[in-house]
Amino acid sequence: MKNFTKVAIICILLAPTPALTESRSIESKALVEDTSKAEPSEDKVEFTNLSADLWMHTSYKNVEPWGLILTNGLIFEREDHSLLVDTAWNDDQTAQIINWASEELGKPIKASVHTHAHSDKMGGMGALHAKGIETYASSMSNEFAPKRGLLPAKNNLNLDTIAKQIDWHGLRVMYPGGGHTQDNIVVYDELSRVVFGGCLIRPGNSRSLGFNGDADLEYWSQAANNVATAFPKAKIVVPSHGKPGGPEVLTNTIEIASPAK
Ligand SMILES: [Zn+2]
Repeated sequence: MKNFTKVAIICILLAPTPALTESRSIESKALVEDTSKAEPSEDKVEFTNLSADLWMHTSYKNVEPWGLILTNGLIFEREDHSLLVDTAWNDDQTAQIINWASEELGKPIKASVHTHAHSDKMGGMGALHAKGIETYASSMSNEFAPKRGLLPAKNNLNLDTIAKQIDWHGLRVMYPGGGHTQDNIVVYDELSRVVFGGCLIRPGNSRSLGFNGDADLEYWSQAANNVATAFPKAKIVVPSHGKPGGPEVLTNTIEIASPAK
């Protein structure tokens, strides 16, 4: 097994796969009422409206013996374009996201930011580059990517100092320090007060940290605490591997990642 495949698989172990409601797929947009009943599938990316001009994309990967594992990213609508946070698992799924933004929103994806170098966040980089989309990741993620069998983003974000924040297309991008991985970053939108925690933030009231093979177990809790401190007005917290929640999702990760546990 190639290393990057192993990383991708282990990354999402123990992640719950809740059935999403209020979601629609690009194959069944005409049946909006019925899509919540659609079976999750590796073939279909789901789109869930989180806030005005903000969507969550959800894609699945079949991992035996656990079955379908979901991963989330975001799509922010802007005037005449969209901004993407994280790819789906692979190029085919990510091409669906690109097409959906163009055809359903009428706002082609112009740029993307990627929250760390694992395949659930950067596995579809090829599809973005095929469309000429400007891709961004931290310099650390771009350095890790080839070592993990992933394509790096085209652009480096200089985020290698803990607690550093930068403006990226009107969104706040922050490096909270190492947690799930050394290179994990988070994205905050002041308008919708949504913080995308990626794999640093565990879903719901999960008691598991999931894959920790690349983790900074000593700092993880502090890194999550840095996110809560930096964005005290956050009202929606989106983790990679489960449903969005409120600030209690941050509190839960701070607690379960505490090295004293
Ligand atoms: Zn990961």
